[in-house]
Amino acid sequence: SKSGGRNQLTFFEANMQAAAIRRLKLLAELRHAVPDGQLELYFQPIVDLATGGIVKAEALLRWRHASGALLSPDTFIEVAEESGLIHEIGDWVFRTAAQQSKRWSELLGRDFQISINKSPVQFQPQTEAADWVAHLDAIRLGPRCINVEITEGLLLNLSDTVMDKLATLQASGMQVSIDDFGTGYSSMSYLKRLDIDYLKIDQSFVKELVHDNFSRTITETIIVMAHKLGLKVIAEGVETQEQCDCLGRAGCDFGQGFLFSRPLPAAAFEGLLAGRAG
Ligand code: C2E
Ligand code: CA
Ligand code: CA
Ligand code: CA
Repeated sequence: SKSGGRNQLTFFEANMQAAAIRRLKLLAELRHAVPDGQLELYFQPIVDLATGGIVKAEALLRWRHASGALLSPDTFIEVAEESGLIHEIGDWVFRTAAQQSKRWSELLGRDFQISINKSPVQFQPQTEAADWVAHLDAIRLGPRCINVEITEGLLLNLSDTVMDKLATLQASGMQVSIDDFGTGYSSMSYLKRLDIDYLKIDQSFVKELVHDNFSRTITETIIVMAHKLGLKVIAEGVETQEQCDCLGRAGCDFGQGFLFSRPLPAAAFEGLLAGRAG
């Protein structure tokens, strides 16, 4: 009936409104996250597949929400990007990761590289590539200790702004990885124009590696291609020993995943590092 239709519409609108209100509330709370010290970095080891030693780490963002819940980035990064808060958050991530790298490099007596994630939004004109370079200088951390992970989406339309920012980071000596490699729509022509250091094979290929010929072929081909181009390869989402063995046979350089360790708070990571640094 007519009135039934109207009720459904109202119900739909009410749902939309509830979602919009939830989002606004999340945004209002997220504004306090940096000043109130609610953000945390977790660290996941990156392992040299030839030796089994921990040689690097990826920093993964967490939000200790006022409710006590530990939120993963999927629940708030989009809101951070849309609101522009990502710039403040990204700055905090960078500084915190640099501080940890400094500490662990001193503990180990050699450079300990930490990867950080940057969304495409973080390459817009107002951002901070030159500030980051200056900050590393100020805390006396070698730029090679920071590895910036970007996705192929950023490289789809390689604008002058993006090129400039990447060039600033790379000229300083910071390294760059392509995250989720193989899932983008990119032509890979950017590999010729940019000085990329690492490709990270997406988890979706690693997951199917052992049982699916297609995924294994893609993985093996990425590794051969990367090595011919002088790049190193990190496999993400390694969960089983079979996957690890298969990657080792294919000549993959590094692995990251639950097989080695889940992402850990800094103190727990440091404990792991003490026993297993490579
Ligand atoms: P990503 O960069 O691809 O990070 C890998 C994700 O896979 C992480 O999820 C990690 O916890 C998870 N993972 C690691 N090993 C395994 C495994 O063996 N199996 C499975 N199933 N998963 C594994 P997380 O921490 O929830 O992060 C999700 C995404 O959020 C990241 O994907 C990254 O794109 C984004 N992100 C994380 N930290 C930051 C940050 O500081 N800034 C920005 N802009 N984005 C971030
Ligand atoms: Ca990443
Ligand atoms: Ca480089
Ligand atoms: Ca990834």
